[in-house]
Amino acid sequence: MKKMEQLKERKMYGLVLSLVLIASLVLPAVVYAADTDNPGKLDQEHSKPAEEGDPEVLALMYEINEKLAAQGLNIAVEEIEFFTIGQGRPANRVHQEEHRWVANDPRRLAQHNDITYLVDQSDGTTSSLTSVQTEDAIDKAMTTWNDEKCLDKVDIVKRDDWDYDPDIFDSFFGFGGFGYWFLADITHAGWLPKEFFDAVGGPGDGDHILGFSVTFIWVSVDTGEPTDINGDNYLDTALNEVYYNDNFQWGIDISLPDGFDVETVALHESGHSLGIGHFGPPPEAVMNPVYAGIQQSPFPVDHASMCTVWKSWPK
Ligand SMILES: [Zn+2]
Repeated sequence: MKKMEQLKERKMYGLVLSLVLIASLVLPAVVYAADTDNPGKLDQEHSKPAEEGDPEVLALMYEINEKLAAQGLNIAVEEIEFFTIGQGRPANRVHQEEHRWVANDPRRLAQHNDITYLVDQSDGTTSSLTSVQTEDAIDKAMTTWNDEKCLDKVDIVKRDDWDYDPDIFDSFFGFGGFGYWFLADITHAGWLPKEFFDAVGGPGDGDHILGFSVTFIWVSVDTGEPTDINGDNYLDTALNEVYYNDNFQWGIDISLPDGFDVETVALHESGHSLGIGHFGPPPEAVMNPVYAGIQQSPFPVDHASMCTVWKSWPK
């Protein structure tokens, strides 16, 4: 895209964002009610509950979704995947159907066919790293996916951290407010204390969970059922948040046993943000569910998964 167009677009985006922020401060109910709301092709029969996942984590997800519905919001927690040390954990999914981003989705103020991300700088420091260091490592991971051949139809574009709280999942556990979740599609929500991971994963699990990805989908306010506005037979992804556990020693290009590499974990977590799940090992992959040292480039099976998800993305 040409410089001028980019500039124009940026101004437009700033204007739209300002209006939305003002409106959401003054008239939250109106803004939420104005969201497009189309149940689409998915019916009850297609929305069977998941048969896999940790029952206690699923119960938390259902509880949060009841609260979101009670607020009249058209988003729901759909999937949580933990990246761990030691033993892997099953994915926690509310539905059996997979979810995908919808190009140009007006509900998430989509920037054309782009997928946007934001790094919450206010939670970017760890016990050993500055927020500048962690943000740089996260940016490298996002650039790696953006340069991936199978993602050549989509641009992964960074948005500025506007100093508004940009995430919401942590608020249900008392670790931050219910933020402005429409600032970007993917939010790297930063480093939170072990207690948050104990609360989400289960007591003591903050000693095993390095980080997790949580994906929300769009649902109908009236029925609570997932939507499929583009008729692709996938649930429609609304937003994704990534949380990192400050209970560990983090580093830049650091090897075990000295610490955990931020870029490796960011690459894994944003693989989920971009729609791919866990597999293996074997084969060795960025998307293996257990941390296995520095992995800053996708493996063949990671490439293949990304190709499957993004092949039908409109150019
Ligand atoms: Zn994972």
